[in-house]
Amino acid sequence: MPGLHAATQMVDNAQSVVVLSGAGMSAESGVPTFRDAQTGLWERFEPEQLATEQAFRTNPSMVWTWYVWRSMLVNSVDPNPGHRAIGDWQRSLAIGGGSLTVATQNVDDLHERGGAKDVLHLHGSLDRYRCLECGRSAEFDPSTTGVTSDQVFDEENIVATVPCAHCDSGVLRPEVVWFGEMLPTDAFEAAINALGQADLVVVIGSSGLVQPAASLPKVGKDAGAQLIEINPARTELSDGADIYLGSTAAVALPEMLTNIIT
Ligand code: NAD
Repeated sequence: MPGLHAATQMVDNAQSVVVLSGAGMSAESGVPTFRDAQTGLWERFEPEQLATEQAFRTNPSMVWTWYVWRSMLVNSVDPNPGHRAIGDWQRSLAIGGGSLTVATQNVDDLHERGGAKDVLHLHGSLDRYRCLECGRSAEFDPSTTGVTSDQVFDEENIVATVPCAHCDSGVLRPEVVWFGEMLPTDAFEAAINALGQADLVVVIGSSGLVQPAASLPKVGKDAGAQLIEINPARTELSDGADIYLGSTAAVALPEMLTNIIT
């Protein structure tokens, strides 16, 4: 893999690392990216048309079912060797007095299940819910809907939204950041702080098209960090990266971290 040797050397010298991950990080676990083809009923929609507040208000059951299905899908898959390698790297740096921060655009919990701690979820989490109107947090178990991860949808197996237990008018929505919404300030600021102190930033599986998360690699680079990009397809970021590894997360990460992983 071109660039692998130089990347391994950068890894071995790094003490303060930020990993920025996008949907491609989880693709080999079986969670499709937004650029992958959708299946069944969802083929008729662009994900960008489902992941908005306006879409939810216009067609609540449809959008709710899409999220319930995505949640069931994430719960049915496992972290891949790339997630696990990052968890090992974080542990190994912590033992040696260094640090590794994971800031992800992903709404799944595969980094955590792969062993990473204190993951910054820039776009929220699929397994948390709040009321669309009053904003209060709520518990919800998607497995109670009968939706399964392998289901092919048509209009008949769309499930109803869930009323809020606190207010009269609201229904539950997933605690994710929809297009047009603000990122959670705490997570975004923590990512900026970590990037300001990083000596190495690794960007994995992000198209670099969704702002403001797409601007984060440059924050690290401007503060003096070296930049490695892992993505089988070149992106807007590739030319500005110190090293571009044209491979997938589950292949490139274990190879790049070969001196570290347990
Ligand atoms: P994206 O869908 O726009 O782009 C995915 C990128 O991953 C592409 O550049 C693609 O070349 C690359 N890729 C595909 N397979 C890969 C692999 N095996 N290894 C490494 N890279 C691979 O994703 P994005 O940039 O994260 O932004 C879109 C939005 O999609 C985000 O806001 C995110 O919240 C959401 N999303 C999240 C998930 C998830 O939580 N797993 C899944 C789909 C979409």
